Amino acid sequence: MFIKAPKGTKDILPAEIPNWHFIEKTAQETFNKANFKEIRTPIFEDTNLFERGVGDTTDIVNKEMYTFEKSDRSLTLRPENTAGVVRAYLEHNLYRESPPVKFWYKGSMFRYERPQAGRQRQFNQIGVEMFGVQDASADAEVIMLAVEFLKGLGLNDLTVEINSLGCNECRKEYKEQLKKAVAPFLDQLCDDCRSRFEKNPLRILDCKNETCNRLFEEHNLKSKVSGIKLCGECSEHYKKLKTYLNELNIKYEENTFLVRGLDYYTKTVFEIKSNNLGSQNAVCGGGRYDGLVETLGGPHTPAVGWAMGVERLNALIPKLETKKIDYFVVSDNQIEAVKLTSKLRKNGFSAEFDYTSRKFAKQLEKAAKIAYKAVILGEDEIKNNYYTVKDLNTSEQTRSSFADLVK
Ligand code: ATP
Ligand code: MG
Repeated sequence: MFIKAPKGTKDILPAEIPNWHFIEKTAQETFNKANFKEIRTPIFEDTNLFERGVGDTTDIVNKEMYTFEKSDRSLTLRPENTAGVVRAYLEHNLYRESPPVKFWYKGSMFRYERPQAGRQRQFNQIGVEMFGVQDASADAEVIMLAVEFLKGLGLNDLTVEINSLGCNECRKEYKEQLKKAVAPFLDQLCDDCRSRFEKNPLRILDCKNETCNRLFEEHNLKSKVSGIKLCGECSEHYKKLKTYLNELNIKYEENTFLVRGLDYYTKTVFEIKSNNLGSQNAVCGGGRYDGLVETLGGPHTPAVGWAMGVERLNALIPKLETKKIDYFVVSDNQIEAVKLTSKLRKNGFSAEFDYTSRKFAKQLEKAAKIAYKAVILGEDEIKNNYYTVKDLNTSEQTRSSFADLVK
């Protein structure tokens, strides 16, 4: 019996790598254009970072973290990257740089949740974070960047949903409204919702439990709560964001029930959903988190960012072909074959030779599968110092010099 990969993890095999390279390259190009700098933080962090940073009423911290002890220290595989980026931003005094400070990242995240289509235990995210700008132009900037990135991937059939959660003040009345509407059927809701009711009622709206969702419908929950009434400042901010998006021609839908799963959001939250993904349909989630830097011990710093699930993006992109190599050297003289292969590589070409000296017909069969051209190096070629190049697409053969090969 072979040992299998752990449940909820996936190998990314060579045949799938072209898609991953395409996504990563498009990310790098899009974010470079907007002067976002790449950052790479550790895959595991002090458990406290997530407890404080992501919030201890979230599913991520309560149920989904991979936590382990080493020399009396509690460490956790990162379930998301915003907390790690904020930690690095503080640890290296990057907050002293003149704002904005803009980062992007890519990498694996780890969450212990039920694996299903579009949901893994190790998965990959690409994300951006922008620090130091209070104005809604920063919210618009990161949303624009998400849309540009998705366009770069050829993805158009997507919906941007936005909402404002306001500040703590704005949320107070809304939380009460929500609690009042839920109270009559609270005892029928899932354990999570019952604990959210006390700790963070807003999160009830983010519940993925089918029974809860059916109850919300039956009790007309959404018609009983009117949406968050924003204070002057928050409402101004939200209005400004919409003006920016309109001016940028970015289509969006307002969803007053969009609350997101993390504790740290303030004002703007958004999600980008695909119309072609079934139930795990969110490809991007983000928002403003003006309190997080302070929560993690830094100075008050407005910030906004998002993360996308790379596996979900990949599911929307057509499968790209693995690139062929430039030359396959066909020969029964292995020393000459390896020398020519090495020379071709030194001249910037991808090349391989047949490691056995089997029949030319067999070698050519292999060449046709993996290369654009075969260089045939038989007895006559070696004796008379030339190469026969076979175009594996057209089958055309030409007598060539090395200079011809590297032209
Ligand atoms: P969901 O509601 O699907 O659980 P989330 O709110 O937990 O998403 P975020 O923490 O905002 O997700 O992460 C941003 C993006 O990362 C999601 O929109 C999704 O595309 C992707 N993502 C999150 N969890 C997973 C997972 N377990 N497997 C694959 N992709 C994921
Ligand atoms: Mg989740």
